[in-house]
Amino acid sequence: MNKITVRLMEEVALEVSMRRMAVFLAVLIVAPALASAEQNWPGEPVDNHLYMSWAALTQEVNQWADDNPDIVQLSSIGQSFLGKDLWMVVLSDWSMETKANGSAKEIVYIDGGHHGNEYLGTALAWLTAKWYINEWNAQNEEAIKVLQNTELHILIMLNPDGNDFDTRHNQNLTTTANPFASEPVPTGIDLNRNYDHYWDDCSPSDPFAPGTGPFSEPETKANSHYMNTVVQDADLYVTMHTGVWIMLYPWGKWPEQPPDWELFHGIREEVNAGISDIPIQNANQGLYPNCGTSRDYGYGVMGFPTFTFETDDDQFLPGTFEDVNERLGEELDVMRYLIDNIWYWRARLVVDSLTIDDGKVSFTIENQGRASTQNATLQYVDGDKVLWESDNFIANASSSVSVSSGGFDEDGGEWRLHYQKRAVNSSQWVNESVDRSPEVSTLFSESVETLLWILQAGAIPIFVVAFAFWWSREEKPFDLDDEVPLEAELVE
Ligand SMILES: [Zn+2]
Repeated sequence: MNKITVRLMEEVALEVSMRRMAVFLAVLIVAPALASAEQNWPGEPVDNHLYMSWAALTQEVNQWADDNPDIVQLSSIGQSFLGKDLWMVVLSDWSMETKANGSAKEIVYIDGGHHGNEYLGTALAWLTAKWYINEWNAQNEEAIKVLQNTELHILIMLNPDGNDFDTRHNQNLTTTANPFASEPVPTGIDLNRNYDHYWDDCSPSDPFAPGTGPFSEPETKANSHYMNTVVQDADLYVTMHTGVWIMLYPWGKWPEQPPDWELFHGIREEVNAGISDIPIQNANQGLYPNCGTSRDYGYGVMGFPTFTFETDDDQFLPGTFEDVNERLGEELDVMRYLIDNIWYWRARLVVDSLTIDDGKVSFTIENQGRASTQNATLQYVDGDKVLWESDNFIANASSSVSVSSGGFDEDGGEWRLHYQKRAVNSSQWVNESVDRSPEVSTLFSESVETLLWILQAGAIPIFVVAFAFWWSREEKPFDLDDEVPLEAELVE
């Protein structure tokens, strides 16, 4: 190390200690004012919970469930490496199994605290749950509407051991579980590199401890099990972290835009236009290449539209002059937007018109959702048996498409749409029955048309006769020889 480097480091150290002193003084000066000032939302609870421990969380979520049985369901979906329960809070209006119209509620999946020392990410997950509970009880219309139509599944703290020890990784300290060669001391496993999507496939550059294999850790195993068995229909997955102020959409593995780039870009435009300036980018370019993350797993394997919400670049209360509540409040606004509009985060196909003419089925599809879909078909089915199927078609987000397919010669079935919710291969397939019955051009309607034509054609001679009769009765200005017409004589 040369002199200049040492000097620079001393300067940096000096600067850091001066900054700390300034912060300390500022806190001393500001603290009494804060204590007496009227609290703005989220206010006191967040101040207390930026460093929320697992024990405090356990007490609190149990209290939520006890106080709000109408909307809160609490369960443990597994245990951490050291045996702490992983609490799942599920919020919805439990007086109704479905939406008022009988269709299934939308499903939102949220997790926080993959990294034990990323407190604001955990706080945002906590805050999201708390906002809906508070506002439901305050009879806020938005919260009521969301809980009547949506299930919010929120796992606030995935890595309670890391939270306890104030470390990024979990507490699996067995050396064999940590193949990170350049790290001789066991560091635990980075849970957000332990998912089964191109696991440990960013080497040699990924400087993290991904574990001995995909889902080698109890925390990630429990999380993925829940994704696959309870919230597999989710149309939004947000995983909350701290580090930089950014929202990351897939992929972490590749620099290319994901198949559903249109959906992610549309969300970015709306968020940036009216809610927050937070940057929104694909993870590989917005952050750095990363593999085996829950975000890439959520999108690439589960087919969810997924965001990593990096809540902040400055999570430590004493190190900031900006109001933490305001910052978290802005991030909560983004969450509320994503949750309020979840209905749009997939393709939503509706049949606008449907006609059958001589075995050819012509139809127009409107996609009311903000995601595109490929390989969609209109099917004519009898139960699960497909009697007839249209050619594959693509329905782009928020637009219409017209399709014609021949070979229809069926009877006794029903119409349905068969398509994927989003463009990514992993996205869920849905079968949706079609309410609209086709306008059929059959023999019957053709004969009606023919009859109409005959009647119209027949009207012409009738009109001619009537005109002739009228003409015969009139004074004829051009009838120079003034003869009485023959027809008139006949009539008289
Ligand atoms: Zn993180």
